[in-house]
Amino acid sequence: MADELYLLTLHAAARGLRSGTFSSVELTRSLLDRIESVDGRVGAYLTVTADLALEQAADADTRRASGRDGPLLGLPIALKDVLSTAGVQTTCASRILEGFIPPYDATAVTRLKNAGAVTLGKTNMDEFAMGSSNEHSGYKPARNPWNLDKVPGGSSGGSAAAVAADECLAALGSDTGGSVRQPAALCGCVGLKPTYGRISRFGLIAFASSLDQIGVLTKDVTDAALLLGVLAGHDPRDSTSADEPVPEYGGELNGDIGGLRIGVAPEYFGEGLDPQVGDSVRAAIDDLRGLGATEREISLPHTEYALPTYYVIAPSEASANLARYNGVKYGLSDPQATDVDEMMARIRGRGFGSEVKRRIMIGTFALSSGYYDAYYVRAQKVRTLIKSDFETAFQDVDVIAAPVVPSPAFDLGAKLDDPVAMYQSDIMTLPASLAGLPCMSIPCGFVDGLPVGLQLIAPPFAESRLLQAARAYERARGNLPAPLKAIDAA
Ligand code: GLN
Repeated sequence: MADELYLLTLHAAARGLRSGTFSSVELTRSLLDRIESVDGRVGAYLTVTADLALEQAADADTRRASGRDGPLLGLPIALKDVLSTAGVQTTCASRILEGFIPPYDATAVTRLKNAGAVTLGKTNMDEFAMGSSNEHSGYKPARNPWNLDKVPGGSSGGSAAAVAADECLAALGSDTGGSVRQPAALCGCVGLKPTYGRISRFGLIAFASSLDQIGVLTKDVTDAALLLGVLAGHDPRDSTSADEPVPEYGGELNGDIGGLRIGVAPEYFGEGLDPQVGDSVRAAIDDLRGLGATEREISLPHTEYALPTYYVIAPSEASANLARYNGVKYGLSDPQATDVDEMMARIRGRGFGSEVKRRIMIGTFALSSGYYDAYYVRAQKVRTLIKSDFETAFQDVDVIAAPVVPSPAFDLGAKLDDPVAMYQSDIMTLPASLAGLPCMSIPCGFVDGLPVGLQLIAPPFAESRLLQAARAYERARGNLPAPLKAIDAA
């Protein structure tokens, strides 16, 4: 048993720790060994904090021995490298932040630690969370544990790959336009992006502030509920964090969805959707119906504008947020530069990768005087239309079901030279992000040996409903007849 502890879910591991079947140090060692043996091939981590993890694990064991407990006491979790971690290098997978050691923890990290979690390290990602394949990491690509020639998705590709390769029990990610759901779908894990404002963004390095939201990647729905319960809640240090009560997410997962009205929009099942992915998602919706839910056709007419809208708004906000990386305060510096302009030009030229530069240029253009109304203001107006499509739909349905990604994981390198093809990977995740809605990806099948996800979307702050539906489906689905993961093949 001891050598396979890394396979456990959070809730199963919590049971084992509580009953004294194993210790947190044993569990943590099992994960560190697993990382050691597979991460050279997966590339899920940028930094592994083995000593810190073992220290936290020993501390958790001591606390437990003295009769204390916590929702995550002794459970090893990985953190996307977009989250600020005190004393631990935080790069956002960018060369410009190489060597940057933050002096404080993100609120989400503090909450995990207060709940007793063990932090294993920082996961790989697309630089500054811009990308859909993890290939825009300034350090190394991450690979899909099911097939190492395929991408794990992005931008939280390292977190998804780490969960799928059993290199952590669960991971935190961030989702601006799909970065939790898309890699979760491509790697076959559960990915939850809560309502915008549900989890504090304090210490989440900003990409597009009106969209960014921390999310969780887990092995099952129960674990997603457990983590959300720890992370959710108001934070005075993030003025956009919501002052809404935090329900008992895990306590409500009884799998009863009788009478739940599920909306299905033809806009998500049109051209460009791989037919086998479509079949898999349809079958999952049929399963939900079999559990007593009813299906209704809804219309989300502005869906097709989500991609251009997002790719104006997100780069615009990014161009402003990334202005702070100038070689003065953090990361790369250039002692040879003789004046400040030269220094900034050199640092930014050297430190940012090509996708980040592309976004900064698009955003700067869209915000420049003369173009601001034509691009940025217009995009904001369309964003309102997208949001109101959902508001109208939610007058008739309780959750919306859709695919997450139009096709299963693609080959490494396949879309690297074609940014628009890469952006198209996001068409089904962007609308809910623009509307700030809670949404999830739940594994629902395999196509050509690669995982497929079912997306569920709910109205603001209806995470409980979302988790309930996801859990009901997961129960009915049972264990999928999964192929062997490449990472576990001899
Ligand atoms: N793939 C999208 C982008 O590149 C979304 C990224 C994200 O959610 N962080 O912008």
